[in-house]
Amino acid sequence: MKEHVQTKDWGLGLNGHVIIAGPCSAETPEQVEKVCLDMLEANAVPNIFRAGIWKPRTRPGSFEGIGEDGLKWMEIVRHHLNIPIATEVGNTAHVELALKYGVDVLWIGARTTVNPFAVQEIAEALKGVDVPVMVKNPMNPDLELWIGALERLHTVGITKLAAIHRGFSDAYDKRFRNKPNWSMPIHLKNKWKGMEVINDPSHIVGRRDGILETAQRAINFGLDGLMIETHHDPDKAWSDAKQQVTPKQLHDILAAIDFKHPLEQEPPTDKLHDLRTAVDHLDDQLLDILAERFALIDQIGAHKREHKLTVFQAERWKNVMESRTEKGLAKNLGEKFMKELLYCIHEESVKRQEKQLREGAPVEKNS
Ligand code: PEP
Ligand code: MN
Repeated sequence: MKEHVQTKDWGLGLNGHVIIAGPCSAETPEQVEKVCLDMLEANAVPNIFRAGIWKPRTRPGSFEGIGEDGLKWMEIVRHHLNIPIATEVGNTAHVELALKYGVDVLWIGARTTVNPFAVQEIAEALKGVDVPVMVKNPMNPDLELWIGALERLHTVGITKLAAIHRGFSDAYDKRFRNKPNWSMPIHLKNKWKGMEVINDPSHIVGRRDGILETAQRAINFGLDGLMIETHHDPDKAWSDAKQQVTPKQLHDILAAIDFKHPLEQEPPTDKLHDLRTAVDHLDDQLLDILAERFALIDQIGAHKREHKLTVFQAERWKNVMESRTEKGLAKNLGEKFMKELLYCIHEESVKRQEKQLREGAPVEKNS
């Protein structure tokens, strides 16, 4: 994947897990100052201060951000906290103003990431500018769209890049405001080597009481930082009141999190090495068994061809599914895992047999 610059090399004094905190929206100069003072008092000064200046709201008529005036108040943050400032940009006018007022880090919001036209316009406006940009995941769980937005920025020469995992909209799952889909940020990290992903538990959970748990999970999964919405008086916040925490609560959350060392940077211990070797060995056996299973499936396919039988037998499949799932459960394997595993195996079996019926030959590799 493309070369990019990680947070530690953004020239902003970042190191290790990046903590970004601040209000969902800048509201008044007094509010901005109070958040800063309370952060100092609670010993909860983040690495980067966040404040939304333009707010993409679902319905018109809600508070849509204070606009340019809010950028002027960022001096208050610099004065009290002396840390870099980040804000969301959603169009070229936002980019121009944010740069005019010296915002240190820009981010692209979830509602903008979904739109390649908008991301491209923002990217064009950033051509030739050396500013770090973070890209929130799109509202829908589409990894390519998330990576595509990062690529559009990279193509115009923005190399200081990071991603933000803020969860995905799901009309049916009400446990979260935005469902985390943990495999998504992990796939992103696997596909784009070295791409850091900062978790935003505030927008995932949507309520302040679940933030610690989600933040801890993010750290356990190896994500690289946290963005936590913080307000001196959350219940009175002009946006996202339910999910914001006070600076004191931010302090307590950060103190309670058990920060892990990224495995990539740690030499594996002997114990970890031995366990991994054992897993490698078992994986080899697993593959041998699967190859053996599919060789039998091919024989069944040949038999069905010879006797002019169809591939699929619903009753047989139902039995396989039920009996294997039951056995799996007894061995402490999850039901969802068993169903997905069996479905995968079955799909491959049907594909091989159907091909055999059509062509009379075992399926070649990689088909
Ligand atoms: C925000 O960070 O306040 C925000 C609007 O986030 P998202 O784009 O994740 O909804
Ligand atoms: Mn918000």
